[in-house]
Amino acid sequence: MSQSPPDTQSMHASESDYSILSGATSTYDGTSNESLPSSTPPPDDEPEQRLPDLPFPDVSILTGNTVPFRARSSYLHHTWAKTFYSRPEFLITPHTIEEVQLITLLARRCRRRVVVVGSGHSPSDLTCSSSWMVSLAKLSSVLSVSRDPTSHNPATNANKRYAGHVLFQAGISLEDLNLALAPHALTLPNLGSIHIQSVAGAIATATHGSSLRHGLLSQGVRGLRIVLADGSAVWCSPASRPDLFRAALVSLGALGIITEIEMNVAVFADIEWHQRVLPLTDILSRWEGDLWTQAEFVRCWWMPYTSRVVLWSADKTNKPRRAPKKGWYGGSFGFHSYHLMLWAANYIPSLLPSIEWFVMGMQYGFRNGSTNSAVEPQRTGLLMDCLYSQFVNEWAIPLHKGPEAITRLNAWLHGDTAAARIPFEKPRNLYIHAPIEVRVSDSSAATTSPRAFLDPTPADEATLYLNATLYRPYGLDPPCRRRWYEAFEHLMREMGGRPHWAKNFATVTRGHLRDAYGEEMEKWLAVREEVDPEGMFVGAWHRRLLLGEAIETGEAVVGQGGKEEGLRAQAPTVGALAEPHDIMRLEESEKGQKVSRWKGGVEWTGEQARGPSRRPRGYRKVDVKEGSIELVDDEADSFGDLGEDEGVGLLAKIRKDVEAAHLA
Ligand SMILES: Cc1cc2nc3c(=O)[nH]c(=O)nc-3n(C[C@H](O)[C@H](O)[C@H](O)COP(=O)(O)OP(=O)(O)OC[C@H]3O[C@@H](n4cnc5c(N)ncnc54)[C@H](O)[C@@H]3O)c2cc1C
Repeated sequence: MSQSPPDTQSMHASESDYSILSGATSTYDGTSNESLPSSTPPPDDEPEQRLPDLPFPDVSILTGNTVPFRARSSYLHHTWAKTFYSRPEFLITPHTIEEVQLITLLARRCRRRVVVVGSGHSPSDLTCSSSWMVSLAKLSSVLSVSRDPTSHNPATNANKRYAGHVLFQAGISLEDLNLALAPHALTLPNLGSIHIQSVAGAIATATHGSSLRHGLLSQGVRGLRIVLADGSAVWCSPASRPDLFRAALVSLGALGIITEIEMNVAVFADIEWHQRVLPLTDILSRWEGDLWTQAEFVRCWWMPYTSRVVLWSADKTNKPRRAPKKGWYGGSFGFHSYHLMLWAANYIPSLLPSIEWFVMGMQYGFRNGSTNSAVEPQRTGLLMDCLYSQFVNEWAIPLHKGPEAITRLNAWLHGDTAAARIPFEKPRNLYIHAPIEVRVSDSSAATTSPRAFLDPTPADEATLYLNATLYRPYGLDPPCRRRWYEAFEHLMREMGGRPHWAKNFATVTRGHLRDAYGEEMEKWLAVREEVDPEGMFVGAWHRRLLLGEAIETGEAVVGQGGKEEGLRAQAPTVGALAEPHDIMRLEESEKGQKVSRWKGGVEWTGEQARGPSRRPRGYRKVDVKEGSIELVDDEADSFGDLGEDEGVGLLAKIRKDVEAAHLA
């Protein structure tokens, strides 16, 4: 199901041992991949296990060959859903903090931008770059575990949120961290639908699960160390550099490279989960009651055409483990036939209500009241099968607005525009995929301190997340995407919502985001500017949506008589880091014109993108309906001018050496 992190094992043969620094000494010895130390009780008076700050080694030691630059040049990056590809100049896989520091030194001298990639599971083009891509796949060890010896029994500790803490290198996946915690009878307090993500990546985008007893995954972070653009590695926490800490909790990779994290963890537990098919009206009528508080973990999957919901809830338990009844699309026949049905619905959308009835019935039961349940370890029981390539568009809105939002979306999907009060006509033949995910969390100021500046959830109450998933059967975009997302996002904005940072929001501009975050965004931008004034860690995504001066909101154009006119041009990027040529292409595509500028010798097709070819570096947006839009970003990958004597020569030498190592 999941795209693996960059395969660093197979990189060894081709990676360059190009070394430029020597004699870099460090007081920190925790960078090796050594075995897990045994757990020790946390000292009472130790608020965090602060790691030392490391100033950058003196640049006068630019001779010698002791710190390797492990890079390779032919790497094709793509998102899990294969919606975005990019070909970075180098994929660099450091094994130590010193190597991370070296990368920032070289990048600064070569004026190259740097993007850090975790497991590449962000659905948007957030991690796409044609410049230098850094993977911490080899910086993924657990460094120490501290356990509170009084929290032993999962059942009696059901309400105890934390039972210890763990210090680890930031490239580790949620799954591997949980596996390393298990022998200490500890686990991560909460998870989303998958656990393949790197912890650093999950934190950086405000990843969440579904529980009113938990907030974002980053809520448990006690401190972290980050390598900044000047090469220094600094520790930050609520007590030490609190503003940097609040900015780094949801950093979108734009502050620096997070190398170590200390996090609170919970006592290891099994969960017993139950799922039940219910009429939508049941859920709405219980909204203000115990719907979301009946268990520690609660989530819903809403099927709009059958007006039903699957309510899933789970609590910790010490009952014996019990496997669930196998779901229909968990089997090969169900999986492939559902895929085929979705593909057929791309051509005959009106099949979708019947497909929803049949597939969801086979999976969860045809009758209201159908149930399933199991007892599983929490670390796997919270996960779900995400099936096929997909677009995901998820928003956080105040929990109390849930019934209104669902009722109005429901009305819109059933063609009742008056009740929906959404100024986008629904074309007669527009049908969407099921289910819409309905989840919750609570990161309100009362429960989380300090909050991340870019925390998308409401600060003064619990959060509802609505996730409009659209599958891409066999890589084909569904025809409803544009209009459905316009209508959905319009309503989400009206509800005071903010989009999930990593996902495929479509109509949001920099102006919307600035309005939605206000002062918090200003603070985040100020911290970012302070630690990375030249913009080493910003990519095209950041420039498009966060940076720059001009704020122009792209208002939706309502279709007349069912005719879809799409959006007016999105916010043009104007500002210090503007790339007007990118935006021009986006504008062209929004008007539905064919983007021919890159046609001919260089345009990629799906097949070419995977095979060896003479394609340029850069990244492309896959849009089957409108033709691919390629964003060749070479100029944007540099910041400032390469000094003739320094940068140009150095970059040429690095390229040559990486290439030579690759061919060797
Ligand atoms: C199938 C699927 C299911 C998902 N389910 C959920 C869910 O249930 N809930 C939810 O909230 N989200 C969910 N997501 C979204 C996912 O959790 C986030 O996109 C997450 O960021 C992915 O982690 P990653 O390691 O792949 O990070 P990447 O996508 O590789 O990177 C994400 C961001 O983190 C930054 N980053 C990564 N490592 C570092 C580092 N060491 N230092 C600084 N910055 C860094 C990157 O630069 C980038 O900005 C899902 C995604 C998929 C594909």
